Amino acid sequence: MSKLMTGVSGVRGIFAQTLDPMVAMRFAATFGEFIKADKPKATIVVGRDSRTTGQVMNKAIISALMGVGCDVIDIGIVATPTVLLNVQRFKADGGIAITASHNPPEWNAMKLIDGDGMFLSPQRSAAYLASVDAPITWQNWQHIGKCRIQDDAIRYHIDKILNISYLDVEAIRSKRFKVVVDSVNGAGGLISPILLEELGCEVVLINEEPSGHFAHPAEPLNENLKQLEEAVKKHGADLGFATDPDVDRLSIVNEHGECIGEELSVVLAQLFVLPKHKGDIVVNLSSSMLSDDVAARFGVKVHRTKVGEINVGKKMQALKSPIGGEGNGGIICPEVNYTRDAVAGMALILGLLAQSGKTVSQWQEELPKYYFAKSKMEVDPKQMDAIMAKVPKLFAEHEIDTQDGVKVIAKDWWIHIRKSGTEPIIRIYVESPDPARSEEICNETIEKLKK
Ligand code: MG
Repeated sequence: MSKLMTGVSGVRGIFAQTLDPMVAMRFAATFGEFIKADKPKATIVVGRDSRTTGQVMNKAIISALMGVGCDVIDIGIVATPTVLLNVQRFKADGGIAITASHNPPEWNAMKLIDGDGMFLSPQRSAAYLASVDAPITWQNWQHIGKCRIQDDAIRYHIDKILNISYLDVEAIRSKRFKVVVDSVNGAGGLISPILLEELGCEVVLINEEPSGHFAHPAEPLNENLKQLEEAVKKHGADLGFATDPDVDRLSIVNEHGECIGEELSVVLAQLFVLPKHKGDIVVNLSSSMLSDDVAARFGVKVHRTKVGEINVGKKMQALKSPIGGEGNGGIICPEVNYTRDAVAGMALILGLLAQSGKTVSQWQEELPKYYFAKSKMEVDPKQMDAIMAKVPKLFAEHEIDTQDGVKVIAKDWWIHIRKSGTEPIIRIYVESPDPARSEEICNETIEKLKK
C-alpha cells in the first residue's frame, strides 16, 4: 500500500487507501485552526481539479473548515493558479487546492495556500504539519463557519491575464492563430478555451471534458502527447498546448506537430517578457542552461533557487523579477501572480509569436541545443548522508552550489545530485550540449558516487 505523503506541497495519497474523507477532514480542520491562530475570523478559498474523488474531498474539506469556524468560498472546478489568485482577490486568509497535479487519477491531494495567494512557505508548512495530530476544537452553533459558492473565479483569472500590461491583445487577435489544446480531461478544459477564443484563436479541443478520466498519463511530457502532435498535424495548426490536470504546467507542440519539450516553455516566455520588462530572471537549479543564454542576450542575470515553485516565487517577489519559473513547464508571470500558471503562459507564448512573426520551430532553431540525462541510484538509507557529503570533494575542481543537494557547475554542462524525499534514492540530472556526453557524465557520476 502506498504511503500518505506529507510535505511542503501539502498532503497526497491514493483515495480509499491512504487518503479518504476522514483523513481529508483532519488535515482541513487543522489547517483551518492553523490559519485561525493568526486570523480568528478566517476565510478560506477552496477549489479543485476534475478528479472523480474531487467532489467527495471538496465536501469533506469544506465541512471540516466550517466546523472549526472558518468561512469558505467554494470556487468549484478550477486550475490551481485560479485558486491562488482568488485567495488574493477576496483577501482571504488561506486556500486549499484539491488536486494531485499530474499524478494518476486514483490519487488526490490538498495543496495548502497562505493568505498572500502563494503556497505555504517551507517554514509555515513545517509549523502546520507539526499540528495535524493535535485535538480539533469544533465550534458550536453560534461560531460555525458559512460557505458561499462563487462562480466567476475563472472569469477573474482570465481578465487578469488579458490585462497584463505588456500583452498586446489586439496584435494576438489579428493573427487568428489556430491552436490545438489538450487539457487531459483536467480542469484546463474550463479555462483554456475561453482565454484562447478571447485572444482570437481558432481553437481545436481534445480531452476537454473535465471528467477526471485522464485520456493519457497526465504529466505533460513528450511521450504522453502523441495525440496532441497528431492533432496539430491533422488540423494544420500553428501550435498545440498541453496542460496537466491542475493547469500549472504547460507544454508546447510546434507547427510541425512535434513536442518541443517542457524546458522551452519558460524560455519562450522569457523571450517575450524581457524586451518589454527588463529584469533578472529566476528559475530552479534543475532548469535548463537556456535561461542563461536568454539572460545574456538581454543583459540580465539568472538567479537559481531550490526546486519547488514556492522557492522560485518568493525569490522573484524579493527581486521584483518580471518572469521566471521551472523547467517542467511552470511559467510564473508576476503580473498575474507569483505562482506557476499554464494559462498565463499560453498568452505569453502567443504574444511572442504575434510580435515576432516567427513560428515556434523558428524560435527553436534560434536557441542553442542542450540535452538532459536523468538517472537514479538506490542507496542504503544509512549511507545517504555520507554519500551526499562527499559529492563536493569529488568535483572539487568545479563550482558547487549546495542550496538543494549538490549542483556541480562546469562551463557548458552541469550535474544536479539530490536525494529523494520519499525513497532511498539519489537522483542525478545532467545537461550538456551533446546527448551522448550527458549520458556519459551521468554514468560517470554514478560510478564516482559508488566508490
Ligand atoms: Mg500541476
